Amino acid sequence: MKRVFIQTFGCQMNIADSAEMLAHLSRRGVEETKDIESADIVLVNTCTIREHAEHKAVSFLGRLAKWKAKDCSRVIIFAGCAAERLGEALKKDYPFLDIVAGAKGIDNFSKMLDESGLFAVNAQNYTQSVKSGVLDYVTIMRGCNFACSYCIVPSVRGGVKCLSPEVILENCAELAKKNVKEIVLLGQTVNAYKYEDTDFADLLLKAASVKGVERVRFMSPHPAFITPKLIDTIAKNDKIAKHIHLPVQSGSDKILKEMKRGYDSKTVIEKISRLKENGVLVSTDIIVGYPTETEEDFERTLELVDKCAFSFAYCFKFSPRRNTPAYSLKPLASDKEVEKRLDILLNKVRHFSAKAYKDAAGTEQMVLMETVYKGRTSGNLWVKTPKQHPVGSMVRVRIKESDGKILSAE
Ligand code: SF4
Repeated sequence: MKRVFIQTFGCQMNIADSAEMLAHLSRRGVEETKDIESADIVLVNTCTIREHAEHKAVSFLGRLAKWKAKDCSRVIIFAGCAAERLGEALKKDYPFLDIVAGAKGIDNFSKMLDESGLFAVNAQNYTQSVKSGVLDYVTIMRGCNFACSYCIVPSVRGGVKCLSPEVILENCAELAKKNVKEIVLLGQTVNAYKYEDTDFADLLLKAASVKGVERVRFMSPHPAFITPKLIDTIAKNDKIAKHIHLPVQSGSDKILKEMKRGYDSKTVIEKISRLKENGVLVSTDIIVGYPTETEEDFERTLELVDKCAFSFAYCFKFSPRRNTPAYSLKPLASDKEVEKRLDILLNKVRHFSAKAYKDAAGTEQMVLMETVYKGRTSGNLWVKTPKQHPVGSMVRVRIKESDGKILSAE
């Protein structure tokens, strides 16, 4: 039996895509190995959102030259967003590369394997490749219909394509049978999901009612599709996590407009307030140092963070990506100034994150155990328990205290 070593760079979408590609390889009698030296195939699933991620993937590919030189029958597959952006031209610089499978072509991955002539379908060897941990991911849509000025996703993944509810629920049921308790529905603008009459709120409810599923989360939603119906659905169903990671990116209306995010700060603050009033914790992504960001724009971002009190935030320095409108903009602030802004923002974010943990002291929480001593609340806060519980069990606990980073149960 052939073995594949998979190296995934990037986000949860990529992790889910790797699982899907592994399923296609499994149908051809290939099993996964964590040891690259014993592998016959290396699958590199790449990310290009930030330049750094693309560099990492390409330099990993460069290092595979030696691996391939040891046995020329070994196969290298370069897939995902960076593969889409760089295309077949990669083969010129890396002639030892066998298959380039761009992110838009993931749906065609099976066909590409067949066309390469390197793999034969072997139905008897077929094993579903999903992991059987407590949590797993189900892709519900691919691509994005927005055109944010800094983002390369629409050009590497194309427009939105939604999977049918039947396929999605089948995948959820398949995972539940393998003891996965928490399903994360994935899409670039996941809450824009629409398939015939089914919208995202309907799909969430359906996923939450799949037998064996204890909790449903989703990522990444877009503020434009946070509707009263969605807030109500999250609030009323115990199996839908009371946490949402909602990228706001900036608090300045001028910057939001230039970024083409499709909302202003007032609208997003109102939506976040509604979510919080309904018991939902909100975390976010923020970009610091967008080229046209002034000190005043940055102040607006700090104000937004004060108003929204996020339970967590990923804060990034703006990363220019070729072939995006923002790439050619000349930065107004120096690198040092942007670093300083990032530091100020991170301090604020840490303060609110610690507060979210401290506010949970004295409350009762349902914790889904991910190790025997540790699990997460519906609001996505980590909890340690004084005694052991089976992994995958849902445990009701009272929170004794918090050190600002983890909750301790009584
Ligand atoms: S919504 Fe904007 S940032 Fe998100 S994937 Fe689409 S274009 Fe990129």
